[in-house]
Amino acid sequence: MTDRNDNLTSFDAPPGALRRLSPLVRRIVAPNPGAFTYTGTCSYIVGEGDVGIVDPGPADASHIEALLVAIKGERLRYLLVTHTHRDHSPAARILKERTGATIAGCAPYAPPPDLELTGPGLDASHDRSYAPDILLADGERLSFGALTIEAVATPGHTTNHLCFALAEERSLFTGDHVMGWATTVIAPPDGSMGDYFASLEKLRGRDDRLYWPAHGGPVKEPQRYLRALLHHRRQREAAILERLEAGDETIAAMVARIYEGFDSHLQRAAALSVFAHLEDLIERGLARADGPPRLEARYFRVSE
Ligand SMILES: [Zn+2]
Repeated sequence: MTDRNDNLTSFDAPPGALRRLSPLVRRIVAPNPGAFTYTGTCSYIVGEGDVGIVDPGPADASHIEALLVAIKGERLRYLLVTHTHRDHSPAARILKERTGATIAGCAPYAPPPDLELTGPGLDASHDRSYAPDILLADGERLSFGALTIEAVATPGHTTNHLCFALAEERSLFTGDHVMGWATTVIAPPDGSMGDYFASLEKLRGRDDRLYWPAHGGPVKEPQRYLRALLHHRRQREAAILERLEAGDETIAAMVARIYEGFDSHLQRAAALSVFAHLEDLIERGLARADGPPRLEARYFRVSE
């Protein structure tokens, strides 16, 4: 597949505009477009009367105001957070202060002990102020109004990532695990390719009818899309194994060949993605490094 979703062209979402998507779901897109956020973070208002907000978004005053206007006259019960990246969770604390709602969702970010493996910077993408009132473990449910939300643990993009299932509409809020416009970024050490593969397989075992991603439009054929995502990653993995067999030893050399023509400002993300694959291949006994795996290490193929 390409990195793009077929639905891309139908995703018309000006920031700040409230859009009804289904009987129980409304959406406002935050004004934070970018290379990794597409047109911005999608915040979803779930329910009627008694409502929750999935991924309240960045600490942006206009976005928070738009959400408050949208739910005027209703009771905000829960702020549901998929993971602690700064484009997802910071508005939760502010909306809690303004409304008294309960923050429920993923665990707070815990910096991995081996942070230095990929250098500084990634840590800063996490919201350290996130403080949930209720931690939701895999399979735990919250009921409010006429609906039930179930947490589905989906580590990979981040260790603490959750998706949220809306039983009444058989839909799933997929956060950054499955995005509607591109494949997700897996950046070690917090991100893990092995976990990501397992979390994609986990969704293959479910029967959700529709996905609402935090970036991009809806995924209308989830099973077909999951197969395409898995295929895309397996192809990338095959390309890395091929480069190792051809004698490339560094991530830089592999990125130059595999991502030829790729936008230069996305090169670091590409290097981290190759690193994530190499970590997974080492774990599976298919590759090795000349020491602890890190961005600057030398890598070799291990024959099966
Ligand atoms: Zn994220």
